[in-house]
Amino acid sequence: MKLATKFIHAGAHPDPATGAIMTPIFQTSTYVQEAPAKHKGYEYARSQNPTRTALEEALAIIENGNHGLSFSSGVAATDAVIKLLEPGNEVICANDMYGGTYRLFTKVFEKFGIKFRFVNTADLEEVRSAINENTKLVWLETPTNPLMNITDIAAIAVITKEKGLLLAVDNTFASPYLQNPLDLGADIVMHSVTKYLGGHSDVIQGALVMKDAALREKLYFIQKSCGAVPGPMDCFLVLRGIKTLGVRMKQHCINGRIVAEFLRQHPKVGKVYWPGFEDHPGHAIAKKQMRDFGGMISFELKDESVEKAKQVLSSTKYFSLAESLGGVESLINHPASMTHASIPREERIKNGLSDSLIRLSVGIEDADDLVEDLRQAIG
Ligand SMILES: *Cc1c(COP(=O)(O)O)cnc(C)c1O
Repeated sequence: MKLATKFIHAGAHPDPATGAIMTPIFQTSTYVQEAPAKHKGYEYARSQNPTRTALEEALAIIENGNHGLSFSSGVAATDAVIKLLEPGNEVICANDMYGGTYRLFTKVFEKFGIKFRFVNTADLEEVRSAINENTKLVWLETPTNPLMNITDIAAIAVITKEKGLLLAVDNTFASPYLQNPLDLGADIVMHSVTKYLGGHSDVIQGALVMKDAALREKLYFIQKSCGAVPGPMDCFLVLRGIKTLGVRMKQHCINGRIVAEFLRQHPKVGKVYWPGFEDHPGHAIAKKQMRDFGGMISFELKDESVEKAKQVLSSTKYFSLAESLGGVESLINHPASMTHASIPREERIKNGLSDSLIRLSVGIEDADDLVEDLRQAIG
C-alpha cells in the first residue's frame, strides 16, 4: 500500500453496530460486564477505549510497527519510556533537542537516580564513547528541534544492537510521512501527536510505536498504571488528522523549500537551518533516511541583536507568534524565550542555539503569501 492510501485506511473499520465509516467517540468511563470478568475486552476506560484502540492500530500501521500506544501528551509518552529504567541506569541523548524533553530528563528523572548524558548524536564516536555498563537507552531526535541537526538512525541502531541497548527516536519533526525509524532499526518511535499527526493545532497528544510484543506489554503496563491516557474525543480528532497527513506533508515540504530558499538569498538573513540544502552537514543522511525535508526551518538574521529578532517575530501577519508546530497554519517562534527557555542559557549557547534564532513551522497556506509576509517582516 502506498503512503497516501495507508494514512487514509490505517485502522479504519466501519462500526459493526451501525456501519458508521468513522470510528465513534466512545465517551464512556466503564463497560457493563455480563458476569464478573466476562466482558468484550473493555473493562475500564483508563485501560481500554475503542476510539483509542482504533487510533493505536492506525499509529502502529503508519509507523510500520506492530503496536501503538496513545498518551495524553508527547511528554507523557517520553515519560513512559524512561519509566522502563531503574535508578543507576544511564541514557544517552542529544545535546540539542526539544526543551520539554530536556526538562523532563534533568528536572524530574535525575532526582530518581537516572543519569542522562548529553552528546552530539550526529557523531557516532561520541555516542560510542559515552556508553558504559549502566547505559540502557539511547534517545534520539532527528531532525532536532530547533537546529535541524540530523542523526544517522541506522548507524546508531547498529551500535545499540551490538551493545544490547534500547533505541528510541522522537519522530515528531519528520512525521511518518518523511521517516520511519523502526525500519531503520529503532525499538521505539515516539511522537508528539500534537504536531503533524494531529495537524490542526486542536489537540495535545503523544504516541509510542514498537514492533516487539514484550516491550509493548511493559509500556502498556506503565500507561495504564500511571494513567496518562488521552480522551476519546482527542483520539477521534487525531484519527481524522492522520487521514490528511499525506496531502498536508506534501504541501509542507513544497512550501518549506520555497521559504528556505527565499530566506537564504535574503541580504539581511544570516544562517538558515534546513536539511534540504545540499551544504547542510546532515544533508546526505537526511536524503538517505527521509523521503523529503519538511517544513521546519530555523534562521538567524545578520543583525544578531535580540531586539531585531523580536521585531521580526512581532511583525508577521500569517506566521502567528506561538509555541508548537506542524499545524496547517504557519507559526513563528523564538526558541530562546519560548520552546527552549527551560534549557539554561549557557547550555543553549554552547550547543549553538543563539538568542536571536527564529524558528518557523511553515504551514500549507499559499507559499507566495508566506514569502511576502516574511519579506515585509524582515524589512
Ligand atoms: C512538542 C514536542 C514534544 C512534546 O510533546 P507535547 O505533545 O507538547 O507534550 C516532544 N518532542 C518534540 C520534538 C516536540 O516538538
